[in-house]
Amino acid sequence: MIRKMKIPFNVPYITGKEMNYIEDAITKLQLCGDGDYSKRISKFMKNQFNIEKSFFLTSGSAALDMSAILLNLKKGDEVIMPSFTFVSTANSVVLRNANIKFVDIDPTTFNIDTEKIEENINENTKAIFPVHYGGISCNMDTILKLKKKYNLKIVEDAAQGVNAKYLDKYLGSIGDIGCYSFHATKNYICGEGGLILINNPDLGERAEIIREKGTDRTKFIRGEVDKYSWVDIGSSFLGSEILAAFLMAQLDELSKIQYMRKKIFLKYNEDLKILQERGVLKLPFVPNYSTPNYHIYYIVLKNEQQRNKLMIDLRNRGIQSVFHYIPLHSSKMGKKLGYKANELPITEEYSKRILRLPIYPDLKIDEVEYITSEIKRLLY
Ligand SMILES: *Cc1c(COP(=O)(O)O)cnc(C)c1O
Repeated sequence: MIRKMKIPFNVPYITGKEMNYIEDAITKLQLCGDGDYSKRISKFMKNQFNIEKSFFLTSGSAALDMSAILLNLKKGDEVIMPSFTFVSTANSVVLRNANIKFVDIDPTTFNIDTEKIEENINENTKAIFPVHYGGISCNMDTILKLKKKYNLKIVEDAAQGVNAKYLDKYLGSIGDIGCYSFHATKNYICGEGGLILINNPDLGERAEIIREKGTDRTKFIRGEVDKYSWVDIGSSFLGSEILAAFLMAQLDELSKIQYMRKKIFLKYNEDLKILQERGVLKLPFVPNYSTPNYHIYYIVLKNEQQRNKLMIDLRNRGIQSVFHYIPLHSSKMGKKLGYKANELPITEEYSKRILRLPIYPDLKIDEVEYITSEIKRLLY
Protein backbone atom coordinates (compact mmCIF):
# COMPACT_ATOMS: atom_id res chain seq x y z
CA MET A 1 0.00 0.00 0.00
CA ILE A 2 1.29 3.47 -0.84
CA ARG A 3 1.37 5.67 2.21
CA LYS A 4 0.51 9.22 1.39
CA MET A 5 0.42 11.91 4.02
CA LYS A 6 -0.47 15.55 3.74
CA ILE A 7 2.20 17.59 5.51
CA PRO A 8 2.04 21.39 5.40
CA PHE A 9 5.24 23.42 5.72
CA ASN A 10 4.19 25.20 8.90
CA VAL A 11 1.43 24.81 11.49
CA PRO A 12 1.25 27.43 14.28
CA TYR A 13 1.44 25.83 17.72
CA ILE A 14 -1.24 26.70 20.28
CA THR A 15 -0.54 25.98 23.96
CA GLY A 16 -4.19 26.07 25.08
CA LYS A 17 -3.76 28.94 27.56
CA GLU A 18 -4.00 31.76 25.00
CA MET A 19 -7.78 32.20 25.36
CA ASN A 20 -7.61 32.40 29.17
CA TYR A 21 -4.97 35.11 29.07
CA ILE A 22 -6.80 37.07 26.38
CA GLU A 23 -10.02 36.84 28.35
CA ASP A 24 -8.19 38.10 31.42
CA ALA A 25 -6.85 41.11 29.50
CA ILE A 26 -10.35 41.91 28.20
CA THR A 27 -11.90 41.50 31.66
CA LYS A 28 -9.38 44.01 33.02
CA LEU A 29 -10.21 46.28 30.04
CA GLN A 30 -6.52 46.39 29.16
CA LEU A 31 -6.50 46.51 25.39
CA CYS A 32 -3.87 49.00 24.21
CA GLY A 33 -0.14 48.70 24.85
CA ASP A 34 1.86 48.62 28.08
CA GLY A 35 -0.58 46.75 30.30
CA ASP A 36 0.09 43.84 32.65
CA TYR A 37 0.94 41.31 29.92
CA SER A 38 3.39 43.61 28.12
CA LYS A 39 5.10 44.18 31.47
CA ARG A 40 5.12 40.44 32.17
CA ILE A 41 6.86 39.85 28.84
CA SER A 42 9.61 42.34 29.68
CA LYS A 43 10.00 40.83 33.15
CA PHE A 44 10.17 37.35 31.63
CA MET A 45 12.95 38.53 29.29
CA LYS A 46 14.88 39.91 32.24
CA ASN A 47 14.53 36.78 34.36
CA GLN A 48 15.02 34.19 31.60
CA PHE A 49 17.31 35.89 29.10
CA ASN A 50 19.04 38.49 31.30
CA ILE A 51 17.75 41.34 29.13
CA GLU A 52 17.62 44.53 31.15
CA LYS A 53 15.18 46.54 29.02
CA SER A 54 12.74 45.38 26.37
CA PHE A 55 9.51 46.61 24.80
CA PHE A 56 6.71 44.58 23.23
CA LEU A 57 5.98 45.87 19.71
CA THR A 58 3.67 45.22 16.77
CA SER A 59 6.29 43.20 14.85
CA GLY A 60 9.92 42.28 14.37
CA SER A 61 9.94 44.73 11.47
CA ALA A 62 8.83 47.49 13.87
CA ALA A 63 11.74 46.58 16.16
CA LEU A 64 14.17 46.97 13.24
CA ASP A 65 12.55 50.24 12.13
CA MET A 66 12.80 51.59 15.67
CA SER A 67 16.45 50.52 15.82
CA ALA A 68 17.30 52.47 12.67
CA ILE A 69 15.62 55.58 14.15
CA LEU A 70 17.42 55.08 17.48
CA LEU A 71 20.80 54.95 15.71
CA ASN A 72 19.97 58.24 13.94
CA LEU A 73 20.75 56.70 10.55
CA LYS A 74 20.69 59.31 7.80
CA LYS A 75 21.61 59.90 4.18
CA GLY A 76 25.23 58.99 3.50
CA ASP A 77 25.51 56.55 6.43
CA GLU A 78 26.28 52.91 5.69
CA VAL A 79 25.08 49.76 7.39
CA ILE A 80 26.60 46.30 6.89
CA MET A 81 24.30 43.28 6.65
CA PRO A 82 23.89 40.03 4.71
CA SER A 83 21.86 39.99 1.50
CA PHE A 84 20.58 36.55 2.45
CA THR A 85 17.87 37.79 4.87
CA PHE A 86 14.25 38.85 5.10
CA VAL A 87 13.36 42.24 3.58
CA SER A 88 12.71 43.90 6.95
CA THR A 89 16.40 43.99 7.89
CA ALA A 90 17.06 46.11 4.79
CA ASN A 91 13.85 48.17 4.79
CA SER A 92 14.68 49.64 8.20
CA VAL A 93 17.87 51.18 6.78
CA VAL A 94 16.42 52.23 3.43
CA LEU A 95 13.52 53.98 5.20
CA ARG A 96 16.10 56.26 6.87
CA ASN A 97 17.69 57.01 3.44
CA ALA A 98 20.92 55.34 4.55
CA ASN A 99 22.89 52.89 2.37
CA ILE A 100 23.33 49.17 2.79
CA LYS A 101 26.62 47.40 2.24
CA PHE A 102 25.69 43.78 1.61
CA VAL A 103 28.32 41.23 2.67
CA ASP A 104 28.47 37.62 1.48
CA ILE A 105 27.52 34.69 3.70
CA ASP A 106 29.43 31.78 5.14
CA PRO A 107 28.23 28.71 3.19
CA THR A 108 28.25 26.50 6.30
CA THR A 109 25.79 28.58 8.36
CA PHE A 110 24.18 31.01 5.86
CA ASN A 111 25.15 33.77 8.32
CA ILE A 112 27.18 36.85 7.39
CA ASP A 113 30.80 35.89 6.68
CA THR A 114 32.53 37.75 9.50
CA GLU A 115 35.89 37.51 7.71
CA LYS A 116 34.51 39.68 4.92
CA ILE A 117 33.09 42.49 7.08
CA GLU A 118 36.21 44.55 7.76
CA GLU A 119 37.05 45.17 4.08
CA ASN A 120 33.59 46.76 3.75
CA ILE A 121 34.00 49.23 6.61
CA ASN A 122 34.75 52.88 5.74
CA GLU A 123 34.34 56.28 7.38
CA ASN A 124 30.58 56.26 6.63
CA THR A 125 29.93 52.91 8.29
CA LYS A 126 27.68 53.36 11.33
CA ALA A 127 26.43 49.89 12.19
CA ILE A 128 26.41 46.15 11.54
CA PHE A 129 23.07 44.30 11.45
CA PRO A 130 23.97 40.60 11.87
CA VAL A 131 21.12 38.13 11.22
CA HIS A 132 21.09 34.86 13.17
CA TYR A 133 19.78 32.67 10.39
CA GLY A 134 17.49 29.87 11.57
CA GLY A 135 18.39 30.60 15.18
CA ILE A 136 22.02 29.56 14.64
CA SER A 137 24.31 32.26 15.99
CA CYS A 138 26.64 34.48 14.00
CA ASN A 139 30.26 34.61 15.14
CA MET A 140 29.63 37.47 17.57
CA ASP A 141 33.18 37.63 18.90
CA THR A 142 34.52 38.86 15.56
CA ILE A 143 31.62 41.29 15.19
CA LEU A 144 32.17 42.73 18.69
CA LYS A 145 35.88 43.22 17.96
CA LEU A 146 34.99 45.24 14.86
CA LYS A 147 32.44 47.22 16.87
CA LYS A 148 35.17 48.23 19.27
CA LYS A 149 37.84 48.91 16.67
CA TYR A 150 35.64 51.13 14.48
CA ASN A 151 33.16 52.42 17.09
CA LEU A 152 30.10 50.89 15.41
CA LYS A 153 26.64 50.03 16.70
CA ILE A 154 25.38 46.46 16.51
CA VAL A 155 21.71 45.63 15.89
CA GLU A 156 21.10 41.89 16.09
CA ASP A 157 18.28 40.71 13.86
CA ALA A 158 17.34 37.85 16.15
CA ALA A 159 13.83 37.59 14.66
CA GLN A 160 14.45 33.85 14.25
CA GLY A 161 16.68 33.52 17.31
CA VAL A 162 14.44 33.69 20.38
CA ASN A 163 15.73 31.29 23.07
CA ALA A 164 18.93 30.48 21.17
CA LYS A 165 22.42 31.30 22.41
CA TYR A 166 25.89 32.46 21.41
CA LEU A 167 28.17 30.84 24.04
CA ASP A 168 26.34 31.60 27.31
CA LYS A 169 24.45 34.68 26.05
CA TYR A 170 20.99 34.73 24.51
CA LEU A 171 20.78 36.00 20.96
CA GLY A 172 19.52 39.56 20.93
CA SER A 173 21.24 40.38 24.22
CA ILE A 174 24.73 40.85 22.77
CA GLY A 175 24.62 43.90 20.47
CA ASP A 176 23.48 47.43 21.36
CA ILE A 177 19.98 46.41 20.29
CA GLY A 178 18.27 43.07 19.60
CA CYS A 179 15.10 42.43 17.60
CA TYR A 180 12.70 39.49 18.07
CA SER A 181 9.69 38.46 16.00
CA PHE A 182 6.59 36.59 17.18
CA HIS A 183 5.05 36.23 13.73
CA ALA A 184 2.92 33.08 13.30
CA THR A 185 5.78 31.38 11.42
CA LYS A 186 8.35 31.84 14.21
CA ASN A 187 9.03 29.64 17.27
CA TYR A 188 7.02 31.67 19.82
CA ILE A 189 4.05 33.41 18.33
CA CYS A 190 1.17 35.83 18.74
CA GLY A 191 0.19 36.26 15.08
CA GLU A 192 2.03 39.51 14.51
CA GLY A 193 4.34 40.82 17.22
CA GLY A 194 7.89 41.71 18.13
CA LEU A 195 10.22 42.87 20.84
CA ILE A 196 13.03 45.39 20.89
CA LEU A 197 15.81 44.64 23.38
CA ILE A 198 17.74 47.68 24.53
CA ASN A 199 21.11 46.44 25.75
CA ASN A 200 22.92 49.77 25.46
CA PRO A 201 21.56 51.85 28.37
CA ASP A 202 22.22 55.12 26.49
CA LEU A 203 19.40 54.22 24.10
CA GLY A 204 16.71 53.37 26.67
CA GLU A 205 15.10 56.74 27.27
CA ARG A 206 14.76 57.60 23.60
CA ALA A 207 13.37 54.13 22.84
CA GLU A 208 10.44 54.84 25.18
CA ILE A 209 9.71 58.03 23.29
CA ILE A 210 10.05 56.70 19.73
CA ARG A 211 7.65 53.82 20.32
CA GLU A 212 5.09 56.20 21.89
CA LYS A 213 4.72 58.25 18.67
CA GLY A 214 7.56 60.55 19.64
CA THR A 215 5.97 61.64 22.91
CA ASP A 216 7.08 61.44 26.55
CA ARG A 217 3.83 59.67 27.48
CA THR A 218 5.71 56.88 29.30
CA LYS A 219 7.27 59.45 31.65
CA PHE A 220 3.81 60.97 32.15
CA ILE A 221 2.36 57.58 33.10
CA ARG A 222 5.17 57.14 35.63
CA GLY A 223 4.32 60.57 37.03
CA GLU A 224 7.65 62.12 36.06
CA VAL A 225 6.09 64.94 33.99
CA ASP A 226 2.66 66.54 34.44
CA LYS A 227 1.66 66.41 30.78
CA TYR A 228 3.00 64.72 27.70
CA SER A 229 3.77 66.18 24.29
CA TRP A 230 5.67 65.73 21.05
CA VAL A 231 9.41 65.62 21.79
CA ASP A 232 10.99 63.52 18.97
CA ILE A 233 10.07 61.54 15.86
CA GLY A 234 8.35 58.22 16.41
CA SER A 235 5.41 56.05 15.53
CA SER A 236 2.86 53.72 17.12
CA PHE A 237 5.21 50.81 17.68
CA LEU A 238 3.49 49.44 20.83
CA GLY A 239 1.84 46.04 20.58
CA SER A 240 -1.70 45.50 21.88
CA GLU A 241 -2.33 43.78 25.23
CA ILE A 242 -4.53 41.20 23.48
CA LEU A 243 -1.47 40.02 21.54
CA ALA A 244 0.82 40.34 24.57
CA ALA A 245 -1.58 38.02 26.42
CA PHE A 246 -1.41 35.51 23.56
CA LEU A 247 2.38 35.66 23.56
CA MET A 248 2.66 35.23 27.34
CA ALA A 249 0.83 31.89 27.04
CA GLN A 250 3.52 30.81 24.57
CA LEU A 251 6.44 32.05 26.68
CA ASP A 252 5.08 30.05 29.63
CA GLU A 253 5.86 26.96 27.51
CA LEU A 254 9.26 28.20 26.30
CA SER A 255 11.24 25.03 27.05
CA LYS A 256 8.54 22.60 25.97
CA ILE A 257 8.17 24.24 22.56
CA GLN A 258 11.93 24.24 22.05
CA TYR A 259 12.18 20.59 23.09
CA MET A 260 9.45 19.54 20.64
CA ARG A 261 11.29 21.31 17.78
CA LYS A 262 14.65 19.86 18.85
CA LYS A 263 13.32 16.29 18.64
CA ILE A 264 12.27 16.88 15.03
CA PHE A 265 15.54 18.59 14.10
CA LEU A 266 17.59 15.70 15.52
CA LYS A 267 15.36 13.10 13.85
CA TYR A 268 15.94 14.73 10.44
CA ASN A 269 19.68 14.77 11.14
CA GLU A 270 19.70 11.12 12.13
CA ASP A 271 17.67 9.94 9.13
CA LEU A 272 19.49 12.07 6.54
CA LYS A 273 23.05 11.70 7.87
CA ILE A 274 23.70 8.85 5.43
CA LEU A 275 22.95 11.14 2.48
CA GLN A 276 25.44 13.70 3.76
CA GLU A 277 28.06 10.99 4.22
CA ARG A 278 27.56 9.95 0.61
CA GLY A 279 27.89 13.54 -0.58
CA VAL A 280 24.29 13.68 -1.85
CA LEU A 281 23.29 16.72 0.22
CA LYS A 282 24.41 18.88 3.13
CA LEU A 283 22.68 19.19 6.52
CA PRO A 284 22.60 22.23 8.83
CA PHE A 285 25.91 22.99 10.54
CA VAL A 286 25.92 24.20 14.13
CA PRO A 287 29.20 25.88 15.22
CA ASN A 288 30.57 25.12 18.70
CA TYR A 289 29.62 28.56 19.99
CA SER A 290 25.97 28.19 18.99
CA THR A 291 23.07 26.66 20.94
CA PRO A 292 20.25 26.81 18.38
CA ASN A 293 16.48 27.04 18.87
CA TYR A 294 15.70 24.72 15.96
CA HIS A 295 13.78 27.37 14.04
CA ILE A 296 14.58 26.05 10.55
CA TYR A 297 15.49 22.66 9.13
CA TYR A 298 17.06 22.83 5.71
CA ILE A 299 19.00 20.66 3.30
CA VAL A 300 21.47 21.92 0.69
CA LEU A 301 21.22 20.21 -2.70
CA LYS A 302 23.80 20.03 -5.51
CA ASN A 303 22.24 22.70 -7.69
CA GLU A 304 19.08 24.67 -8.42
CA GLN A 305 17.59 22.13 -10.84
CA GLN A 306 17.91 19.31 -8.32
CA ARG A 307 16.46 21.52 -5.57
CA ASN A 308 13.46 22.59 -7.67
CA LYS A 309 12.77 19.06 -8.85
CA LEU A 310 12.90 17.70 -5.30
CA MET A 311 10.46 20.39 -4.17
CA ILE A 312 7.96 19.36 -6.85
CA ASP A 313 8.47 15.64 -6.23
CA LEU A 314 7.85 16.16 -2.51
CA ARG A 315 4.74 18.22 -3.24
CA ASN A 316 3.40 15.34 -5.35
CA ARG A 317 3.84 13.15 -2.28
CA GLY A 318 1.87 15.56 -0.08
CA ILE A 319 4.92 17.23 1.49
CA GLN A 320 5.22 21.01 1.34
CA SER A 321 8.79 22.33 1.31
CA VAL A 322 9.91 25.89 0.53
CA PHE A 323 12.99 27.93 -0.21
CA HIS A 324 14.13 31.47 0.50
CA TYR A 325 15.50 34.09 0.15
CA ILE A 326 15.71 35.77 -3.22
CA PRO A 327 18.93 37.62 -2.26
CA LEU A 328 18.06 41.23 -1.50
CA HIS A 329 20.78 42.70 -3.71
CA SER A 330 19.52 40.81 -6.78
CA SER A 331 15.79 41.37 -6.06
CA LYS A 332 13.70 43.88 -8.00
CA MET A 333 14.13 46.49 -5.26
CA GLY A 334 17.83 45.68 -4.88
CA LYS A 335 18.39 46.39 -8.56
CA LYS A 336 16.42 49.63 -8.26
CA LEU A 337 18.83 50.66 -5.51
CA GLY A 338 21.75 50.00 -7.87
CA TYR A 339 23.04 46.63 -6.68
CA LYS A 340 24.26 44.18 -9.32
CA ALA A 341 23.69 40.46 -9.49
CA ASN A 342 27.04 38.56 -9.28
CA GLU A 343 28.31 40.74 -6.43
CA LEU A 344 27.93 38.03 -3.81
CA PRO A 345 28.76 34.62 -5.27
CA ILE A 346 28.16 32.47 -2.17
CA THR A 347 24.79 34.10 -1.44
CA GLU A 348 23.70 33.64 -5.04
CA GLU A 349 24.80 30.04 -5.26
CA TYR A 350 23.49 28.83 -1.92
CA SER A 351 20.11 30.58 -2.11
CA LYS A 352 19.51 28.38 -5.17
CA ARG A 353 20.48 25.16 -3.42
CA ILE A 354 18.65 25.44 -0.09
CA LEU A 355 15.38 23.64 0.62
CA ARG A 356 13.49 24.07 3.90
CA LEU A 357 11.57 21.12 5.33
CA PRO A 358 8.54 21.20 7.66
CA ILE A 359 9.43 21.75 11.35
CA TYR A 360 6.87 22.62 14.02
CA PRO A 361 5.95 21.24 17.45
CA ASP A 362 2.92 19.26 16.24
CA LEU A 363 4.84 17.50 13.43
CA LYS A 364 4.83 13.79 14.28
CA ILE A 365 7.93 11.63 14.24
CA ASP A 366 6.31 9.22 11.76
CA GLU A 367 5.62 12.21 9.50
CA VAL A 368 9.34 13.10 9.65
CA GLU A 369 10.10 9.47 8.79
CA TYR A 370 7.79 9.68 5.80
CA ILE A 371 9.53 12.87 4.61
CA THR A 372 13.05 11.49 5.04
CA SER A 373 12.24 8.14 3.42
CA GLU A 374 10.74 9.94 0.41
CA ILE A 375 13.84 12.17 0.16
CA LYS A 376 16.06 9.08 0.22
CA ARG A 377 13.94 7.38 -2.43
CA LEU A 378 14.03 10.46 -4.65
CA LEU A 379 17.76 11.23 -4.34
CA TYR A 380 19.29 7.75 -4.56
C1 LIG B 1 10.50 37.28 10.44
C2 LIG B 1 11.69 38.11 10.25
C3 LIG B 1 11.65 39.51 10.38
C4 LIG B 1 10.38 40.29 10.51
O1 LIG B 1 9.57 39.95 11.57
P1 LIG B 1 8.02 40.35 11.53
O2 LIG B 1 7.58 40.10 12.94
O3 LIG B 1 7.36 39.42 10.55
O4 LIG B 1 7.91 41.76 11.14
C5 LIG B 1 12.84 40.21 10.26
N1 LIG B 1 14.01 39.59 10.03
C6 LIG B 1 14.09 38.25 9.89
C7 LIG B 1 15.42 37.62 9.65
C8 LIG B 1 12.93 37.48 9.98
O5 LIG B 1 13.01 36.14 9.82
